[in-house]
Amino acid sequence: MVFICSLGNELIWNFLSMDQIHAIYNGNFDNLEDIKVSPLSRAYTFSDSVYEVIPFFNNEVIAFNRHIERLQYSCRSMNIDANIDQSSKEILQLISLSKIKDGYVYYQISRGVDPIRSHMYSSKLHAETFGYVTSHKFEEQTLKVALCEDIRWQRCDIKSTSLLGNVLSMNEAKDQACDEVIMYKENKITEGGASNVFFIKNNRIFTPSLSSNILPGITRELLISEAAKHEIKIMEQDCSLDDLVEAESVWLTSSTKGLAPVSEIVNQNLNLDVSHPLFRKCQNIFKDAYFKE
Ligand code: PMP
Repeated sequence: MVFICSLGNELIWNFLSMDQIHAIYNGNFDNLEDIKVSPLSRAYTFSDSVYEVIPFFNNEVIAFNRHIERLQYSCRSMNIDANIDQSSKEILQLISLSKIKDGYVYYQISRGVDPIRSHMYSSKLHAETFGYVTSHKFEEQTLKVALCEDIRWQRCDIKSTSLLGNVLSMNEAKDQACDEVIMYKENKITEGGASNVFFIKNNRIFTPSLSSNILPGITRELLISEAAKHEIKIMEQDCSLDDLVEAESVWLTSSTKGLAPVSEIVNQNLNLDVSHPLFRKCQNIFKDAYFKE
């Protein structure tokens, strides 16, 4: 069924069929499968693009402003000249058009489409935007993870689509029947392949501090500040591999996973408690703040 629905002053063509995914490309709404992009998009040739995954639950967007601020930071860090206000509107429109209650928006901004592939870009390029909305069940997942060396570049604070290091490591882990990885560099824990890491040792909670080597995860930030409101201090500091392997409980955080307990780290003889009282306390605090039915 095709109809036009009006949002604000804009007329938006909306192809509403429940099994189709609502998407937007350069400001035009369409079904995901009908969007065509140029092979000269720098997102395609160079991964010269940034992205966000913005969750919503019970029709409420979680930490929308923080996601928008991080998108802006990523664009600025890469000198991508983007219209973030327009992108913010598009993200909200995707959600309201979809009529999905629980889900997330994937939204990507590339530097633009080159006239011909060239490492050095023209300052005349127009940012290229793309997003889609999909439903997602925010359910607790228990994770089996592999430890691996962090082979990524040195600006992991930018949420860039250049994720080859993460992709290679996560797929090696998949071959060992793992769901995620925990990465380390020079004996220091950095983060998960698509998440941040927390652990409990001697009844205290630790997470690696922010640096250019990890993404400033929004779930990480929300958890730290919600926990502080309940007088639970989370120590942000350098965390070694030895600290991790002495942990009583480990969990990973992300916008789509929430707080996901780790049940096993392969090749490590650990006794991890997926129901550690302090972990459950954090999980309940986080759920009460952002995922209340
Ligand atoms: N680190 C990496 C490498 C990630 O890809 C993600 C998920 N996007 C996170 C951390 C968690 O970030 P957030 O809580 O903002 O989803």
